Amino acid sequence: MMKSWIEVGKESDFPIQNIPFGIFKTPGGTARAATRIGDVVIDLQALALQGFLDGTGADREVFGYETLNPFISMGKEICRAVRARIAEIFEAGNPLLRDYPEKQAGMLFALNAIEMQMPVHVGDYTDFYSSLEHATNVGIMFRDPANALLPNWKHLPVGYHGRSSSIVVSGTNIHRPKGQTKTDTAGLPEFGPSKQVDFELELAFITGSKTALGQSVSTAEAEDHIFGMVIFNDLSARDIQRWEYVPLGPFLAKNFGSVVSPWVVTLDALEPFRVPGPVQEPAVLPYLQAEGNHNFDVQLDVLIQPENQPEQRVCHSNYRYMYWNMAQQLAHQTVNGCNINIGDMYGSGTISGPTPDSLGSMLEIAWKGTRPVKMADGSERKFIHDNDTIIMRGYCEKENLRIGFGEAITKILPATS
Ligand code: CA
Repeated sequence: MMKSWIEVGKESDFPIQNIPFGIFKTPGGTARAATRIGDVVIDLQALALQGFLDGTGADREVFGYETLNPFISMGKEICRAVRARIAEIFEAGNPLLRDYPEKQAGMLFALNAIEMQMPVHVGDYTDFYSSLEHATNVGIMFRDPANALLPNWKHLPVGYHGRSSSIVVSGTNIHRPKGQTKTDTAGLPEFGPSKQVDFELELAFITGSKTALGQSVSTAEAEDHIFGMVIFNDLSARDIQRWEYVPLGPFLAKNFGSVVSPWVVTLDALEPFRVPGPVQEPAVLPYLQAEGNHNFDVQLDVLIQPENQPEQRVCHSNYRYMYWNMAQQLAHQTVNGCNINIGDMYGSGTISGPTPDSLGSMLEIAWKGTRPVKMADGSERKFIHDNDTIIMRGYCEKENLRIGFGEAITKILPATS
């Protein structure tokens, strides 16, 4: 198996086989594109300007922007060539850069010396609802245990158009939202800080090409339009959501902050971890049928870290449980002629698995507050408390190869006064 001359720890998500893309900033410097091997951040603008990426088809200037959109727009073939060249340069046996520390200066940075930025400019954002277990759990809690799934659920990947302005990069802290809530017994709604702030464990895919209005993307073509994936924490305020969501769906309960991991992992890097999805019964309409395996075996963890306390795992799930896959989601999104753009983000929906430890939101873990989680300090959690940090991690692992996403972290700050 290929190794890098940059040290990669056994538990690292970023071996030379990963080569994700992100945007970083050095103190006083401008934002620019990077990749990462182990805990070393590699400045792609510097690499390109010195000619190391010549011949890949990528313009030397394309890495010097504050988003990856210009690079992504060059297409998948160029992205593949760039990843292959980076792997070649940093392969253990290649002295090109390895033996010239003076060339490495200004090109390689320690993780703790830089700050990661939002990787892409997100023009549009869609959030799906594609986990059978999650949709069933929510249906049981809020509607009718006998008819937990609505009649459309197994026939189309349910989704809604969200808001992109409040999608932020890991490390950005979010204030507890304020809004209208109403309990079942109260006659009138009240206004104040949400009492039920929750996370939603999701992965999101990012489209890497644009289509014309009127054009549809088939399930067979869908992955050609997908650049890569990130972890997506779709923060939600359940009390606001319950009162506002009928009849048009989520609104202010979902748009006060969604937090993404900073490194976009390409589908090429995830290729060894393809797995079949769940059997879809009843059969889906022809435009949603997808040949081959479009699910990925991504292990996902959610941890809560109260202020000055150790982190504690509250969920271990897996992206492989998704009932509807990315190819079907994108085919459905575009079947009516809706156009897509470079950098658009598509959340999977909360990823819950079949077991009690694999539920992807506090709503389900604590089952509407009836099964509070015991924390190490003796406190309990039904939802997220002020100054709790939510940590999401995701990685694939097989035969000594581990490819991961790193982390999406956010702290919930008290509501603003
Ligand atoms: Ca969601």
